[in-house]
Amino acid sequence: MKYIFVTGGVVSSLGKGLAASALGTLLELRGLKVIMQKFDPYLNIDPGTMNPYEHGEVYVLDDGAETDLDLGHYERFTHTNLSKLNNLTSGQVYQSVLDKERAGKYQGRTVQVIPHVTNEIKARMHEVAEKMGGDVIITEIGGTVGDIEGLPFLEAIRQFAHESGPGNVIFIHATLVPYIKAAEELKTKPTQQSIAKLREIGIAPHVILCRTELALDIDIREKISLFGNVPIEDVIEVRDVKHTIYEMPLKLHEERLDDVVCKQLNLDTPQPDLTKWRHFVQRVIHPTHHVRIGVVGKYIELKDAYKSIYESLVHAGAANDTKVDIVRVDAEAIEKAGPDIYLSGLQGILIPGGFGDRGTEGKISAAGYARKSGIPFFGICLGMQIAVIEFARNVCNLKDATSTEFDKATPHPVISMMEEQKKIKQLGGTMRLGTWVTNLMPDTKAYALYHSAVISERHRHRYEVNDDYKDQLEAAGMIISGTSLKGGLTEMIELPNHPFFVACQFHPEFLSKPNHAHPLFHGFVKASLHHHHTPEPLC
Ligand code: GLN
Repeated sequence: MKYIFVTGGVVSSLGKGLAASALGTLLELRGLKVIMQKFDPYLNIDPGTMNPYEHGEVYVLDDGAETDLDLGHYERFTHTNLSKLNNLTSGQVYQSVLDKERAGKYQGRTVQVIPHVTNEIKARMHEVAEKMGGDVIITEIGGTVGDIEGLPFLEAIRQFAHESGPGNVIFIHATLVPYIKAAEELKTKPTQQSIAKLREIGIAPHVILCRTELALDIDIREKISLFGNVPIEDVIEVRDVKHTIYEMPLKLHEERLDDVVCKQLNLDTPQPDLTKWRHFVQRVIHPTHHVRIGVVGKYIELKDAYKSIYESLVHAGAANDTKVDIVRVDAEAIEKAGPDIYLSGLQGILIPGGFGDRGTEGKISAAGYARKSGIPFFGICLGMQIAVIEFARNVCNLKDATSTEFDKATPHPVISMMEEQKKIKQLGGTMRLGTWVTNLMPDTKAYALYHSAVISERHRHRYEVNDDYKDQLEAAGMIISGTSLKGGLTEMIELPNHPFFVACQFHPEFLSKPNHAHPLFHGFVKASLHHHHTPEPLC
């Protein structure tokens, strides 16, 4: 087993998660089994209880782990299925150490960051290697070198490298090489200082990834090589990609990053076959068609909040030879000005997941607009609940129907909390999480899209379509096209006599990959492509 640790310096948001993922792609295409993981220095146990404004999307794994959005990149860029083992936070480390202390496992010793916290981190490294196997583990360390809270992780990986022996571990350090306009120059000093900071704690990088707006000329490379103390071929330029993040593996391969890494780790592997990846990138960059899809949400200004949904639309666009123009629509703006001005020019409307009642009335009116106008509609999690509420109010005539999440005293709780959720007091990690099996009904759109009667999808919610209203919804024409294998919960709904009105309680966006667009996103983009503006409402 070989280990690659990726650290970041100078500033955050350098894209080291993406660079690590792209390296994962290249190593996988060289025939290696790659495991990817992230160490996050914050004290939360996981990002599950964090506000999207703080943290962006919470990415859910098969086993129900609520993780950092970088794990979404890892799963999209490589083929390993990750688990809760692959996102370690300081919170988890300290929780485990303190549990052991209370249980008397430290036999009377003083419990300290070194060695107890660092040992806990190293133990996780070994556990991942043992349980997941593979040829290479790429571990990204969250945060920036110099952060106080990141120190135990850096010390742990330093020790880990020392114990693993030469040729088994490399450190990749990602830094910024800023362009100073007034001087018309790229500057290497921040990189030098960041490497010096890393050396202070005993880590000397083997490879330096230089994030830059402009090409690094030979002089700059030589300077970074000299002061970074690495051969010049280990100074890798990471230019901002022009069109899509999926160009990243191609760019890094041009810089020979995968060669450099394999050489340093004594991995004798063939060159990667990038044909399929290139083909995918070409389809993203040069599509034949064009479609405008609105995403109606409340975290619209923050791109990271719906990261996996936006990526899934890129995948589905490429599969349909189509560029998807995403129009971000603020649900609260619809509440103020009505849906018409925001939605009338769109070819598709997507309502993503969400929590709390801010903006829900705007989303309900967007779902109604899609239902009546025949614009393709795709609801995800909260988006499905919204579609059911709208249908209950305006087709079943259940005035004031809503979810008990928004109004506990509603006369018509068409969406209500699942029974087993009612006794739960603790907020973190207690939703219905992870992969559950759904049965699809024959002769439905869902069935036709999946070509399958049984599917598995990832979940993250507490509320559910209320069984007491199913008959009324169905009698009024709504089709419950998917139900859970366990317990018969409503997992998918659709409307007949509509070009595409499909919604699901689960999160299909967590299973879409560049060359394997998710069937629901694929079908939605295809239907949107065929939607030509119809001024007259259908019904
Ligand atoms: N708030 C809703 C629930 O808990 C929907 C959750 C979501 O969209 N992920 O059921």
